[in-house]
Amino acid sequence: MDKFFYDVCVSIPLRQAFSYHSSQKIKPGTRVVVKFGSRVKLGIIIQELKDVVIKTKQIDFVLDDQAVFSSSELSIFKWAADYYHHPIGEVVTTFLPPKLRQTKTSLTLSAFESATYTSKPFHKTLNSEQSKALEVLTKLHAFAPALLFGVTGSGKTEIYLRLIHEHLINSGSVLLLAPEISLTPQLVLRLKEQFGDLVGMYHSKMTPASRYKAWKKFNTGSLRVIVGTRSAAMLPSKKLSLIILDEEHDSSFKQHEGFRFSARDIAIKRAQKSNIPIVLGSATPSLRTLKLVEDKKFKIVKLTKRVTNQQPPKFSIVDINGAALQSGLAPRAIEAIANTLKENKQAMIFINRRGFAPRYVCADCAWMATCNACETGLVFHHHNNRLVCHRCESAYGVPMNCPSCNKTTLSFSGTGTEQLELTLNGLFPNTKIFRVDKDSTKLVGSLETLLDQIQGSEQGILIGTQMLIKGHDFPNLELVVAIDVDQGVTSLNAAATEDMGQQLIQVAGRAGRLHGKSLVLVQTRYSEDKNLQQLKNGDYLSFAASLMSSRKMLNQPPYSFEAVLRASSPKATTNLDFLNLAKTLIDFKSCILAGPMPSMQSKVRGSYQHYLLIQAPSRTTLNLVLQHLVGQVEQHKSSAKVRWTVDVDPVEF
Ligand code: ADP
Ligand code: ZN
Ligand code: ZN
Repeated sequence: MDKFFYDVCVSIPLRQAFSYHSSQKIKPGTRVVVKFGSRVKLGIIIQELKDVVIKTKQIDFVLDDQAVFSSSELSIFKWAADYYHHPIGEVVTTFLPPKLRQTKTSLTLSAFESATYTSKPFHKTLNSEQSKALEVLTKLHAFAPALLFGVTGSGKTEIYLRLIHEHLINSGSVLLLAPEISLTPQLVLRLKEQFGDLVGMYHSKMTPASRYKAWKKFNTGSLRVIVGTRSAAMLPSKKLSLIILDEEHDSSFKQHEGFRFSARDIAIKRAQKSNIPIVLGSATPSLRTLKLVEDKKFKIVKLTKRVTNQQPPKFSIVDINGAALQSGLAPRAIEAIANTLKENKQAMIFINRRGFAPRYVCADCAWMATCNACETGLVFHHHNNRLVCHRCESAYGVPMNCPSCNKTTLSFSGTGTEQLELTLNGLFPNTKIFRVDKDSTKLVGSLETLLDQIQGSEQGILIGTQMLIKGHDFPNLELVVAIDVDQGVTSLNAAATEDMGQQLIQVAGRAGRLHGKSLVLVQTRYSEDKNLQQLKNGDYLSFAASLMSSRKMLNQPPYSFEAVLRASSPKATTNLDFLNLAKTLIDFKSCILAGPMPSMQSKVRGSYQHYLLIQAPSRTTLNLVLQHLVGQVEQHKSSAKVRWTVDVDPVEF
């Protein structure tokens, strides 16, 4: 009997594939069932081995009569496993629809048949800047990465529509990736208007059944456009001819636990390996992308004007030192809100803290309410009278006496969205107030309802976290007040400053779209800050340029390359012992090491979190260091005592 040998990846946290044999000839990318130790596991054939391997186990059975991934898609998984130093089995399963992670389901795919596209006329006529941009972008064939830099309201979506149209008439399929699930419904709606039933959706909040359905339909060509989030980046398609990544700067493209990949980077690699164009769109591109433009690796296409020809809003910096604040609002801001309401327009307060007050403290002994499991400060929520941990969502009662000194000197401090709502209700009793945060949008569809209400009303006050500022269009909004930016101003973490700039430009971009009358007030205690000053004229690129030059000077990314080795365990000393050992294993003079130190979230669900930062002068060096390090660490017995992970290109510490 013939015997064929295969490398099979199994979803277990080991950084290797395993050899098995079978009497069947099996195509790479096919799902199989294998025994791993005493357990029955799902495996995926990575490649057939040319040589005979001794002492292999037999593949129990072959699940499907066709491969779920093509060899080009498999090569991207191999790349990702190497780049992120993550177990290949976990990499591959991340991109399988949940149904296909089970050994019960057998894949049944109809034959590939591309659904026919009948084009409809477009509603809008492109302006000259849009037309020029489109002309450049439609000419891109093969691997040609491009940044579509378009100021907020410049009509990037209209360009996406025409680009997709071009690919559909040329019998291609298209992936449109968005950073967050909340942004997909409006994109799907817009695309369905134009392309009808050819458009589908794929994200992790969908039921396993509908995910599987969309997965199959895109695969076999009955869906030709998918709007999706991270997990959609590797949806198989026989005719993929274009990838669009909207809001490319958004850190939500990066997965924050488990396999910490960036869907942006995977998508770029996929475009490269499949030799197709990729368009990254943003009004506030990441410095990493701007560096690629600078190095001539990415083409840049610009939309400098808003469709309505209105000027992007200007900023006004409000110094709050010595000001009498009401729930964080300066007198000047309150006056501006009153004026806006008088004109029958909307004002928005942008604040990145939900709940009533972010701290509950004792004035006498400085005790502060913290979560038992996470050590983070508890946030008081008024609606259910609870102190809530925003890390693990544990809720606690509100003590009347200080647990430490027993005095009744406890009070709330700081401002959250709930408190602002209450205060603004008092200040403007007859005004409709819309609060948009995680708590007010818990129910499915409630965000959409709130957004509809905002868009349908003339006057009102919007209170919102980051959630409110992404991608939405509010025609009656003329005033924005940002009251919580100082953390971004003072942070030593360069990424936080980049984030702050992007958020301010994005939030400002929601205002004055229709009439061009708009004002953005930025409240700060650091009005002389150089980066804030750069933002004043509303020009993101000059802010980015100034940030780039300081990153260059300090040798920070994108001028260096970073990875973090993370450790998590119930005892802090276990983490420190492990990371200190890891440190001694890195013997590269050109690398800078920092730590071990506690993570920003120093304790999560009972486990302490620490990290070691590795900074290398080149991607190649970083890769070599990690390869060596991971190999050594895996063999070391102290690595069994902690949960450790590698995080390449970290965005949080
Ligand atoms: P961006 O994503 O660049 O911020 P959008 O794509 O959301 O901007 O476009 C902003 C608004 O302008 C949308 O309501 C869109 O329908 C409209 N729009 C875009 N292009 C045109 C055009 N050429 N003519 C008229 N309206 C347009
Ligand atoms: Zn006390
Ligand atoms: Zn907690």
